[in-house]
Amino acid sequence: MSCELCGKPIVGKPVRVWIEGSQLMVCPQCSRYGSIVRPKATTRPKQIAKRRELSMGLESTVLVSNYNVLIRQARENMGLTQADLAMLIGEKESIVRRLESGRMAPTLELAKKIEKVLKIRLYEEIRQEQELPKPQGLQLTLGDVAVIKERNK
Ligand SMILES: [Zn+2]
Repeated sequence: MSCELCGKPIVGKPVRVWIEGSQLMVCPQCSRYGSIVRPKATTRPKQIAKRRELSMGLESTVLVSNYNVLIRQARENMGLTQADLAMLIGEKESIVRRLESGRMAPTLELAKKIEKVLKIRLYEEIRQEQELPKPQGLQLTLGDVAVIKERNK
């Protein structure tokens, strides 16, 4: 590539400059005759804001196993009848009875209402890494490698 201003082969990095209204690729020596073309900010690819990883994706909520006992104890501690609690959470009294007898597990939505009224925790957040099984597959892979090595001997 040769300089579009002086015509000499460009040694080093060619420079794109504005000279008298036109863009020229010139040698570094000639670049001082023009103004260096800078890419417009608007032409740059917009940086995509990194989305924060949603913590919900990494955690799962699990209903505590003794939810029925927790609900009954918390309700009795607050001096509420099953009918009172039912009214407070906007459900039928029969629902409260079934919840407290353990015959019905509350949905997450229902549990949230109960949690709010009775100030208890019915759903626990479990981090997924704790639930992941141990990598047993790794041992198998190592065993396979050993077999292959044996064959190649
Ligand atoms: Zn030049």
